[in-house]
Amino acid sequence: MPPFVTRFAPSPTGLLHLGHAFSALTAFNAARRAGGRFILRIEDIDRGRCKPEFERAIFEDLAWLGLEWEMSVRRQSDHFDEYDRALRRLIDKSLVYRCFRTRKEVLDEIGRAPHLSADGPEGPAFVGAPLAPAEERSLLAQGAPYAWRLSMAAAREALAGAIDALFFVEQSVDGATRTRVRAAPALFGDVVIARKDSGTSYHLASVHDDAFQGVSHVIRGEDLRAAAHLHRLLQALLDLPTPIYRHHGLITDDSGKRLAKRDRAATLRALRKSGVGADEVRGRLGFID
Ligand code: GLU
Repeated sequence: MPPFVTRFAPSPTGLLHLGHAFSALTAFNAARRAGGRFILRIEDIDRGRCKPEFERAIFEDLAWLGLEWEMSVRRQSDHFDEYDRALRRLIDKSLVYRCFRTRKEVLDEIGRAPHLSADGPEGPAFVGAPLAPAEERSLLAQGAPYAWRLSMAAAREALAGAIDALFFVEQSVDGATRTRVRAAPALFGDVVIARKDSGTSYHLASVHDDAFQGVSHVIRGEDLRAAAHLHRLLQALLDLPTPIYRHHGLITDDSGKRLAKRDRAATLRALRKSGVGADEVRGRLGFID
């Protein structure tokens, strides 16, 4: 059996809250029970929204919670060249195409095309095609910004039917039960795989890093459950191994709404400042020491 390696991969776009604590503790405890490794990865490809002070707060808050992680912490913004190489491989295989459209233009187009959907797992599930070479050349000459979209049609062709035979294993959070899930990446449409601003995307960077870091178990919130379907396809297209997935339930506020970074009162920082202890937080989240 490969070694058990799992990770917590926050984005430093705000202070961590109880939901992050739950996710980090779930992964940390799973690694401890399995005698495996727990790593921390900073997912900061969104240079506009990520801030060094939030990264510092992640280290502080997790240490306060009692977590220990391996000393080498991967910061994604140090590795844009690697994500670019992964993108190049997709470009070389003609699996992606440039998209110059604005978000509004994408939504307008979806509005006119009833077979497309404005609510895919993460927003518009758009299906398009590369522009005619002359039009593309002219936009490039004008310096027009563009994203790269993964062509689901090209992926289907490249995998020659095997796209319908992609599976991944989803385990229960405690690892006791497992289900073989058939991947349905087409739900995403021609998803943006490299954004205009960052030249990569959460999907590409995360799939690359999970493989690069030898992650055997991806443990994360169920808000990312659908992403596993797309990640499985990217693994097939980039010849990467497929980890086992565990998606846990989300922590909600008193009204049943999922916690967000803007819910100040639930941040670990605010709880700590108000005198709440780390053991109390762990207890509240159902982790009995
Ligand atoms: N960086 C993502 C987040 O903060 C988590 C990604 C993952 O666990 O795959 O929501």
